[in-house]
Amino acid sequence: MADQPKIPRSGFSTLAVHGGEAREKAFFSLTDPIVCAATYSFENTQAVIDFIEQDQPRGEYGRYGNPNEMVVEQKLAALEGGESAILFSTGMSAFVCFLMAKLAAGDEIIFFDECYRRSRDFCQTDLAKFGVVTRQVPTGDFAAMEAAITPRTKLLISESPTNPHLSVIDLDQFAALGKKHQIETMIDATLATPYNLQPLAAGVDYVLHSVTKYLAGHNDLLAGALVGSAAGLASTRTLRGIIGVINSAHNCYLLQRGLKTFPLRMERHNANGQAIAEFLASHPAVAKVYYPGLPSHPQHELACRTMRGFGGLVTFELKNPDWKAAAAVCDAAKLFRIAPSLGGVESLIEQPLVISYFKMTPEQRRQYRIPDNMIRISCGIEDAEDLIADLRQALAAAEMG
Ligand SMILES: *Cc1c(COP(=O)(O)O)cnc(C)c1O
Repeated sequence: MADQPKIPRSGFSTLAVHGGEAREKAFFSLTDPIVCAATYSFENTQAVIDFIEQDQPRGEYGRYGNPNEMVVEQKLAALEGGESAILFSTGMSAFVCFLMAKLAAGDEIIFFDECYRRSRDFCQTDLAKFGVVTRQVPTGDFAAMEAAITPRTKLLISESPTNPHLSVIDLDQFAALGKKHQIETMIDATLATPYNLQPLAAGVDYVLHSVTKYLAGHNDLLAGALVGSAAGLASTRTLRGIIGVINSAHNCYLLQRGLKTFPLRMERHNANGQAIAEFLASHPAVAKVYYPGLPSHPQHELACRTMRGFGGLVTFELKNPDWKAAAAVCDAAKLFRIAPSLGGVESLIEQPLVISYFKMTPEQRRQYRIPDNMIRISCGIEDAEDLIADLRQALAAAEMG
């Protein structure tokens, strides 16, 4: 694993428990009470004026956020080492709000081509209607990214690691390219999480998370977050207040509770991901495993240098090219459940062809490099031996047909 992570590690678990929280809370409660208010009252007119003039951090109207959300935002900013965080109702609402706030007709953005399908859909279908041009270049090809820059380019965007191919991006190079051309950079680090990767420390301007995944971690709530400078995120925060894509107080409480054990969960996700990737790499029915922690991974050295661990997502291809063979493995799994999503305590298994790309043409699937026999698993926090035993029997059952 990582010998010299660039991540300032000390205090991370302490921040997960205490970061962003007031020492003294209402009613002497050790935990934050759930505040269900849709609106917040002011003592008198002068209090309203003071609130506006001094930009006081307090409740106003529920669509702009709530106290439980503010605590979670401060905790996420602390974990990410950022000045400011904004919480959203989903990862995609964070993505959409950010791009809508940052871009205008005629602007261009450049994206590495391995990315979450809905992020690509939004750019190509919806942003295009507002006159924003999206250029996609091969993942990790910085020469192609630089060549695609024009005077209208406003944002460089990537994931790291990418979903589902788990390619790792050199964030130093990514941030340097943005700085050289004075273009802001954003990384969707959902698969890495702040436990494994700290993009802001590498000089990237903004980090996006589907908090639904590892940060919430229990497959029971949806949320998204953006972290960066307060000034850089101001327009996005204003737009979120107009749309109201915030999280309920109950959800924020669950999220705050879950974040306290986030470092412990990540430790197990990392260990399980590594153990299962190694098991799959040695299995005779498996043709290829995508996992940054394997020496066979093309960016293994970069991943070891810049990440603390490689998470619980493991993608692999069977030797049998028939899509039905991969479907049989998914169907034979007993502990792993067939479901989209990742990063929760329960292990999941899916065939990208079926779950995400079923309605696409074979040409599109080839373009997005989604072979029929690809399987993606999200290792939860169960015992690695049990997960390996389940995959072993599922692979054997599928072979028997
Ligand atoms: C799931 C996911 C998203 C979208 O997040 P939601 O919370 O489902 O809206 C965005 N990016 C990546 C990499 C994801 O895995």
